[in-house]
Amino acid sequence: MSHSLPDLGYAHDALEPYIDARTMEIHHGKHHNAYVTNLNGALEGNADLAGLSLKELQAKIADIPALRNNGGGHFNHSLFWKVIAPGGASAPSGELAAKIDEAFGSLDSFKESFAKAGMTRFGSGWAWLGLKSDGSVGVCSTPNQDNPLMGEAAGTCGCTPILGLDVWEHAYYLNYQNRRPDYISAFWSVVNWDVVAANYEAAK
Ligand code: MN
Repeated sequence: MSHSLPDLGYAHDALEPYIDARTMEIHHGKHHNAYVTNLNGALEGNADLAGLSLKELQAKIADIPALRNNGGGHFNHSLFWKVIAPGGASAPSGELAAKIDEAFGSLDSFKESFAKAGMTRFGSGWAWLGLKSDGSVGVCSTPNQDNPLMGEAAGTCGCTPILGLDVWEHAYYLNYQNRRPDYISAFWSVVNWDVVAANYEAAK
């Protein structure tokens, strides 16, 4: 199975002023596209993994750097474009909101915890909200293009991710330069909580 770059499904400028059009154009068309191209190349030498879905692949690639970096990159960005798709609810509701309150006390406390995960990730990586095996939700972060589905490589971050934030500089440098906190604050204005809720339901 060959992997392909998913369409964004919305215009590059749809997330302005929070995420600028040029960043979206380069991030999706160049960075993500390169992960897809390099993943397909790496799978040529690993034919046993070529039939797996992108999600299934994540648990199998921690020991193969080219697959870990590019397979993770493809999965992570594919999730990212969806959770920042324009429209949808601007806050969680129902069962997901209750799970967040249960784990963090309030939505604001969750946001603080998530922002801290993104801020304290040294260098490049991701912040995540995920559903854990005990049915609770939690926040964590992973380096590089790792993600919580990568088995032992996920460290203490094992969960099914339902919301992710790219904190690589390529995700924000054009608009925010070194101001990662401003980028993370802006992120909350573009999160599509309907998509996050659908991810939560699918993860159960
Ligand atoms: Mn990225």
